[in-house]
Amino acid sequence: MLAEEVRSPIDLPVFDSSAMDGYALRAADVASAGPDTPVRLCLAGQVAAGEAFAGEVARGSCVRVFTGSVLPRGADAVVMQEETRAEASGTGKVAILARAEPGENVRARGEDVRRGSRLIAAGEILTAGRIGLLAAAGLTAVRVGRQPVVGLLATGSELKEPGQPLAPGQIYESNRAALAALVKRAGAVPRILPLVADALAPTCEALADAFNQCDAVVTTGGVSVGEMDFVRRAFEQMGGALEFWKVAIRPGRPFAFGCHQGKLLFGLPGNPVSALVTFLLLVRPALLRWQGATCVSLPTHPGVLAEPLVNNGERRHFLRVKVDPAGRVWSAGVQASHVLSSAAAANGLVDVPANSTLAAGATVPVLRCD
Ligand code: AMP
Ligand code: MG
Repeated sequence: MLAEEVRSPIDLPVFDSSAMDGYALRAADVASAGPDTPVRLCLAGQVAAGEAFAGEVARGSCVRVFTGSVLPRGADAVVMQEETRAEASGTGKVAILARAEPGENVRARGEDVRRGSRLIAAGEILTAGRIGLLAAAGLTAVRVGRQPVVGLLATGSELKEPGQPLAPGQIYESNRAALAALVKRAGAVPRILPLVADALAPTCEALADAFNQCDAVVTTGGVSVGEMDFVRRAFEQMGGALEFWKVAIRPGRPFAFGCHQGKLLFGLPGNPVSALVTFLLLVRPALLRWQGATCVSLPTHPGVLAEPLVNNGERRHFLRVKVDPAGRVWSAGVQASHVLSSAAAANGLVDVPANSTLAAGATVPVLRCD
């Protein structure tokens, strides 16, 4: 995330140059040129890309150029090679078979970027295109927002590391791996922390350790109303201030947010889809803002429902959907918050209001999450 506006120290293109392999000439000299009315010009020399050229294109002459060659002085257009014909060797002439407008096949100095103008605004993400632009302007370093280190803590006595055999009652822990991918995509640095059993003391220890080494901590599980849910209790016991708990959305109601010594706690529900959805809706924007981003909402576009989306519940439901290449929107499958296969199939979310059905054919905003 760019932390300051960057202006260009130079013009781009750096100089007037040829956009084609061909002949640099004066447009006025070839005003009458055509396939059957060739205009013969004297070949005054050649300039390859990377060369400086001292000569000049005088009236009635041309210079051989290539893509990226400096446009020789005197020339105001380039006719591409395919519209010319080399005359018998030794004549020193080239037949031009097409007219050209002044400026044709010429990249004008500064037409892309004017020296001193803004290349990129503060708070914009350094995409591939923007990184290329900075390098093209000759820049070697820019100020960026620091990437927060985000600790990922999974709570649950039933959780086992993938790769190990499962004992009865155990399941594989999947939230940290999934959230690490989202943390990275939000520009931050995930730190996967050890699993935490459902008990107060281990949860306190794990949280203290996480806050020591990270800028923000994302926990999963143990944040609901059960007597085996210890995240909020442990957080408050270590002096953390819980700012809010429970959000009127589905999936993900028991989401908790708090602050501790200037650092952030995001307490996500344990159900894998609840964790993903609350991260996308509530954690991702915070991490982006932390880095100075100006645009923090998920990319959104309209899509046409290929089938109805139903929400019979009392809370707005962010349904997992699949947008096909034609832009039609389908339910991604079973919407229960433990069902990861539909999350794996989804590339978007649609916000369906409480107790309502969005009809097939309706155009709805799709929040993209692919
Ligand atoms: P909790 O929010 O702790 O009540 O967990 C809700 C459900 O999500 C339970 O079925 C848990 O077993 C499951 N769960 C919690 N954490 C994880 C995790 N890290 N990976 C996979 N499933 C989880
Ligand atoms: Mg649990």
